[in-house]
This record gives sequence, C-alpha cells and structure tokens, in this order.
Amino acid sequence: MKILEHEAKVIFKQSSIRIPKGCIIGKEDEFKSYQKKLAELGPDIVVKAQVDIGGRGKAGGVRMATQETARETIEDLFSKKIAGLPVTRLLIEERLGILHEYYVSITIDRAAKMPVILFADTGGVDIEETAKKNPAALRRAYVYPLLSDVPQYIRRYLTGSAPSEIGETINRLYLVFMAHDALLAEINPLVTTNEGVYAADAKLIIDDNALYRQGIKENRDLTGRERLAEEQGFSFVELDGTIGVIGNGAGLTMATVDLITNSGGRAANFLDVGGGASRDRVSYAVRMLGEIPRVAVIVVNLLGGITRCDEVAQGIVDAGVTQKIYVRLAGTNEEEGRKILSEHGYEMLDTMEEVVTAAVRAVS
Ligand code: GDP
Ligand code: MN
Repeated sequence: MKILEHEAKVIFKQSSIRIPKGCIIGKEDEFKSYQKKLAELGPDIVVKAQVDIGGRGKAGGVRMATQETARETIEDLFSKKIAGLPVTRLLIEERLGILHEYYVSITIDRAAKMPVILFADTGGVDIEETAKKNPAALRRAYVYPLLSDVPQYIRRYLTGSAPSEIGETINRLYLVFMAHDALLAEINPLVTTNEGVYAADAKLIIDDNALYRQGIKENRDLTGRERLAEEQGFSFVELDGTIGVIGNGAGLTMATVDLITNSGGRAANFLDVGGGASRDRVSYAVRMLGEIPRVAVIVVNLLGGITRCDEVAQGIVDAGVTQKIYVRLAGTNEEEGRKILSEHGYEMLDTMEEVVTAAVRAVS
C-alpha cells in the first residue's frame, strides 16, 4: 500500500530523518484556518499536491510560492487535476535552501533475496533519465537482512564524497524500511542545506502482506471490486482492457492475460479463482466481471484437477451474464462440463489459443 508523502514524512521523522517544517491542508479547509500555520513557515514556501504519481513535480504538482502568492497558488492547485488525479490535500512546507540534491531508495531484490540500496549524487526530478543515460552514476549495495544497521563500509561505498550525514540518513531510512515491512522507501531529493540534511520528498510502499502486522486495517489502494475479491479469496487485479479473464492458478491466469496481449487484445483484469473452484465461486467471479462496464467479453480458462469442470460449467450458467463467454475447460469431468454448457447455449473450445483468438476477434 502506498503511503502519501506527508504520512511518510511523519514516519521518517520518528526515525530522526530531518524533514522540512510543514502543514497539511484539505480542499475544504478555509484559508483563515491555516493562515497562521502558513506564516510560521517563513517567507518562501513550497506547495505540494498529495497525489500518488511519479513525476509529480514535472506534472505541475509542486509549486514554489511566497507568503504573498500562497493563497493564489493553493487555490490554483486545488482547482486542477495533476496527471488526471484530483487534488484534495496539499502539503505546504518551508522552502529549503538546497545546496545539493541526492537520490536514495531501498527496495527488495527478489533474485538476491536481500534489500538493495540505490544511491546517486545527482538526485531530483531527472533521476530516471540519469539511470538510463548514465547507469554508473547509480551506486548499488545489498544489505544482509540480519544486520541491524547498514555497515559503515557500505555507507561509504554508496555515498563517496557526500557528507557523512547522508550516510547516516541512509541508515535511518534502512531502519524505516525494515521496521515498516516496506517494499520501497525512497528520498528523492535527499538534500543538503546550511542547516543540515533533509528529506525534501518521501515515498514509502508497505508490503500488502504485512498490513495486518503494521496495524493497517484497510488497503486504500484497492478498488471496491478488488476488496470484494479479496474477501472471496480471489487474486484479482483490475486492468484497463475489455476482455475479462478468469483462470485458476496464477501461472495459467497470467499466461492467459499475456496471450490476449500478444494477440492484440487487452485484458480487463486478472482473476485467479484459486484451487478447487466450486460452482458458487465461479458464478461469483463471472458475475463480478459481468458487472464491470468495460468488460465486453469474458474468457474462462480453467484446468480441472480438484476443480471439476462440471461445477465450473454450472457456475458459468448460474451467473447468467449478458457478455459472451469463451470457455476452455480441461481435466476432471471435462465432458460433463461440455454437456452442461452446450445444453445452455454456451460453447466450449478446446485450447487456450482458440478462446483467446475468438475473444480478441469479438472485440476488435
Ligand atoms: P516529485 O516530482 O513528486 O518527486 O516532487 P519533489 O517533492 O521531489 O519535488 C520536485 C523538485 O522540487 C525537487 O527535486 C526539488 O528540486 C524541488 N523542491 C522541492 N522542495 C523544495 C524546497 O524546499 N526548496 C527548493 N529550492 N526546491 C524544492
Ligand atoms: Mn521527488
């Protein structure tokens, strides 16, 4: 789950990472109610839209202002969409006198099975360009996960000639990363000023599998439908295409989504109903996709093992959605499944290629 900048900064501060003075305001707040707090931030300020996108600054979501222009800038940002997202909250901060911008991020390298720290001397809004054009500028180090701190030699290797406080901040960020079960902790830019080192920006993504341990009751990033699917025990992700996908097993379902893409179509979702899919679960899954307006047709691609094809066929029939369904069932009770489907006017095809080709043709 993504943590917004102003929330991440509160967490960073608890771990002694210095952050700019600031206040958070909502669209509904009256100017008068925060005017005093604003004045305490000093003459020059930064107004930052709390929208969760990359390249926010470049999209116009970060504005420099003064006490005189604050109100105008705030009203302007609230009236705009940034990269298509409405702005409901702004973080207003003192403007730092930045001497230098660094980049630091910590993530998990799944192949190495270890946290990996990335650091660059050249932080800021063009870090992606730097990574592409000059990958050597991005230094990388793994941290053995049983160590409680980032060892000094790794800090020195990463930060080179940067001030040692930068290395200390990297270590504090690593402690945040570990303590909060993060998948990503990033500060870009991490800046030096005459008053010391500050996290001018903050990004934190918590592993969805750790939300319970982190005391987070609800995953805000899920759509209403994704939440329903989670309750059913489905693995479900919304995509933006027109072909609904139901499979069993993550591999088969992903392969179905890929084949749709390779065949020139676009999947509307990923939905893995899991093992032993019963009639009711299949019916629920089909109805759920049937209710999504962008879904024009549905591909059902299931392998019968513990899952019985006749149960699946019954579930499809029970759902009774208006969209055309392309079904491929193979395995246990395949023939019974075929019979049920054909009795109810549904057709079962024999291979995954056939159902996908037929579905893509139907929508193009
Ligand atoms: P992002 O585009 O979402 O990554 O937004 P950031 O919070 O990183 O801000 C974008 C850029 O604005 C930074 O790279 C800085 O160059 C600049 N910036 C942000 N805060 C300050 C500040 O307090 N003082 C100054 N001088 N520049 C800032
Ligand atoms: Mn940034």
